[in-house]
Amino acid sequence: MNTKRNGKISMVLQSISIIPLLFFGFLIMAIAYHQCTKTIHAEIEISLHNTIHNVQQLFDVAYPGDYKLMGETAFQLYKGDFDITDNYELIDKVKQDTELDITLFFDNTRILTTICDTEGRRIIGSAAPDIVTAQVLRKGETHFYTNTMINGQKYFSYYAPLYNQNNSIVGMFAVLKPGDSVAAAINKSMYPFLIADLLVMLLIAVCNYLYTRNFASAITKINRFLADVSGGNLNSELDNSVLRRNDEFGDIGRSAINMQHSLRRMIEQDTLTELFNRRSAHRKLQNILPKANMPGEAFSLCIADIDFFKKVNDTYGHDCGDIVLKKVADTLREHMYSCGFAVRWGGEEFLLVFDHMSACEAYDSLEALLNKIRALEIPYNDEILHVTMTFGLADGQTTDLQELLKIADDNLYQGKTAGRNQIVY
Ligand code: GH3
Ligand code: MG
Ligand code: MG
Repeated sequence: MNTKRNGKISMVLQSISIIPLLFFGFLIMAIAYHQCTKTIHAEIEISLHNTIHNVQQLFDVAYPGDYKLMGETAFQLYKGDFDITDNYELIDKVKQDTELDITLFFDNTRILTTICDTEGRRIIGSAAPDIVTAQVLRKGETHFYTNTMINGQKYFSYYAPLYNQNNSIVGMFAVLKPGDSVAAAINKSMYPFLIADLLVMLLIAVCNYLYTRNFASAITKINRFLADVSGGNLNSELDNSVLRRNDEFGDIGRSAINMQHSLRRMIEQDTLTELFNRRSAHRKLQNILPKANMPGEAFSLCIADIDFFKKVNDTYGHDCGDIVLKKVADTLREHMYSCGFAVRWGGEEFLLVFDHMSACEAYDSLEALLNKIRALEIPYNDEILHVTMTFGLADGQTTDLQELLKIADDNLYQGKTAGRNQIVY
């Protein structure tokens, strides 16, 4: 019944803590990725902006004068007196130093560029994207784009208009960074976050798993113990690992043990004398008797009865009778502690079980006990009461409990008729 449910609490606890953990782990990753991307994009924008400014200055210093299209062929571009159409020296040098691509447009047509197609040819003569033409060439704005597609490749690009001395826009400069390298840079700066995030998540998940497993195991052990006790097994033992715990589970475990002890007391003990009651004595004897008859083992029992007890009740009252019963029971318990156990057999009658003792050995022990009873002083009101007892002893040569009890009872009867205050064997 219980095995099916084992682990259910730990499953629930693990899922309610691991789901938010995963959620927050991924949220933190997403935020970190967003921030990282934003920072790197801003850095790229600044770097492209500075480079474009430098390239424009370099061109102005190296080739002073205005840009103008000359000659018969369509792409023959002059700056001042210099034909810069195939002059790649300057932009190739910048590319080498900065690893950024440079393009010079006349109007919206590429005249000079460091970008090559798959066969290694510079992509001159091609047009700028429409949006760039509209925003930079026509409106005269500078623009940073994070997703410019050129030749099927993604670029981060910065475009600025190109002015002649009369302030007319004649073309554009573009500085570009390949998207692949940016993605690689973002990934690289994300690795420490990713590793730290995963490690923290793993650590929390492992701690959570171990704690909930330990927690569920304590519940399972307590549950098994309580099921045993409620099923009538008052000798069931609760695992020490639960009892050693310093938390609420330890408290529950200790309370369950106390409950087991109380139940055992209620079921096995006589409430007045706190000796074993007749029912529990029967159970104990059923266990002892088969072993008691094995070779080398000894066993005997005795029925003990307080003499003229009715007189105590009649003279001093029932309460006084109870006090006498308790005093006598305490003496019997104390005496039997080392040699067996004492049982309240009924009324003022007790059963003394000598485990591992023959009747001869028990006889000696009973003589000592009888003397203790005779010497017992029971104060009641202003008086000191004394009692005597008669003992009927039987040697355990048989495993038949009824037969043994009959022998002991017959001996007790004989002792009563022969004047009481004696041991009969
Ligand atoms: P004998 O020497 O022959 O054993 O005489 P007795 O008076 O001891 O025996 P009897 O059987 O005549 O009386 C036993 C009395 O014990 C009767 C009953 O009221 C009393 N008794 C039994 N149980 C209790 C108890 O729990 N408390 C008290 N106070 N009296 C009890
Ligand atoms: Mg009696
Ligand atoms: Mg009696």
